[in-house]
Amino acid sequence: MTKKFAIFGNPVIHSKSPQMQNAGLKHINFDGIYEKHHLENGNEIKEIFLKNNYKGANITVPHKEFAYENADDVRGIAKEIKAVNTYILEKGKVIAYNTDAPGFLKAIESFGTIKNVLLLGAGGTAKAIALALKSKNIKVTVLNRSENKLDFFKENTINCFSWENFKPEIYDLVVNSTSAGLKDEYLPAPKEMLENIFKNASFAFDCIYGKITPFLALASENDCKIKDGEDMLLYQGVLAFELFTNTKADNSVVEMMRKGLKEE
Ligand code: NDP
Repeated sequence: MTKKFAIFGNPVIHSKSPQMQNAGLKHINFDGIYEKHHLENGNEIKEIFLKNNYKGANITVPHKEFAYENADDVRGIAKEIKAVNTYILEKGKVIAYNTDAPGFLKAIESFGTIKNVLLLGAGGTAKAIALALKSKNIKVTVLNRSENKLDFFKENTINCFSWENFKPEIYDLVVNSTSAGLKDEYLPAPKEMLENIFKNASFAFDCIYGKITPFLALASENDCKIKDGEDMLLYQGVLAFELFTNTKADNSVVEMMRKGLKEE
């Protein structure tokens, strides 16, 4: 029987996950279909997942925390992040994972060895990235516009600052995990602060994909090597795909999924 998969979100209409996942499924001749599922109430996620006979799902904004709370079991780094982006049905139970964290680590591999990271933003994505870096013993400092989202990082003994009390050091890599630059032309921190940081840094990564954000443009002007969030999106999808299909995605699958992601 054809296996059903879905992405839950609100809104979900713009998600590129179906085209990416379906390209992978087709490539390995897997009898499966991956669809969009608009979900209003995050607390109903497990019930709706089961009722629709999904074998696996991805979860996007704003349901990742609800999905964590509602799962029967949580595996891996997701236990610390307390937010999940992947559900798998296993022996009637809903098992949850976070593939955003390892997906980010895979995306920055192309920069080579990284030892010290400045992470801008303190939202859901920042939590996954900060704990992913910490799990690899990479030093991470969080810098957020406001103070009120920093508690999570303090509880996890991650160095963190708001713009007001920031004491910069020298970083190899600067990551933008804020939504500044997504639908606007804002920088994620004051220009002068960023310029001083970029002058001593080597790399800049933006979680936003498909455009040169003001953050990446400023990093590039200051001679940093830059990368957008396409690989992060791709690799979180590839890791979820491996869980969905119980297969190992080789290069040909990864490149098919990338092609799917780029389809209009
Ligand atoms: P959240 O809404 O959870 O967090 C947003 C963060 O951005 C907050 O820390 C907020 O600061 C900060 N922020 C928002 N606007 C500004 C601004 N103008 N200046 C400075 N800081 C700002 O978002 P998510 O963590 O879910 O997502 C963040 C970004 O990551 C989005 O752009 C999303 O598209 C991208 N993303 C990419 C993925 C990929 O695979 N490539 C995966 C997941 C997300 P404050 O606390 O002060 O409000």
